[in-house]
Amino acid sequence: MGADCLFCRIVAGEIPATIVKETATTLAFRDIGPKAPVHVLVIPKEHYADVATLGQGDPGLAGEVLATAAAVAEDEGLTGDGFRLMFNTGPYGGQEVFHVHAHLLGGAPLGPMLA
Ligand code: C5P
Repeated sequence: MGADCLFCRIVAGEIPATIVKETATTLAFRDIGPKAPVHVLVIPKEHYADVATLGQGDPGLAGEVLATAAAVAEDEGLTGDGFRLMFNTGPYGGQEVFHVHAHLLGGAPLGPMLA
């Protein structure tokens, strides 16, 4: 992947993003259309289409994505009141960008997931 993947292009620095944390293997940046006071996307730098292919293809890297999400949650002051971490997956899951990303949402009560 690369040229036609939006998030690979963010990793490459070709598309601007507000980066809040970077590790050797992961990147976290603010969502351009925030759905909560804090809305950060956490991705592996390597291209995987969704969380299912990441989880089966490289469980260690999936764990690194979770560790980065947890570190960002701490940095953003979300650990006391809590937060939501979710992976939209496939068309029925509402996934629009097919480079796996965790949505980290918090900073206000989010309500029940399936209200
Ligand atoms: O889970 P889903 O694929 O629907 O989410 C994609 C997310 O990527 C959206 O929340 C959208 O606002 C975000 N986005 C972004 N920066 C871009 C393009 C999309 O933060 N340049």
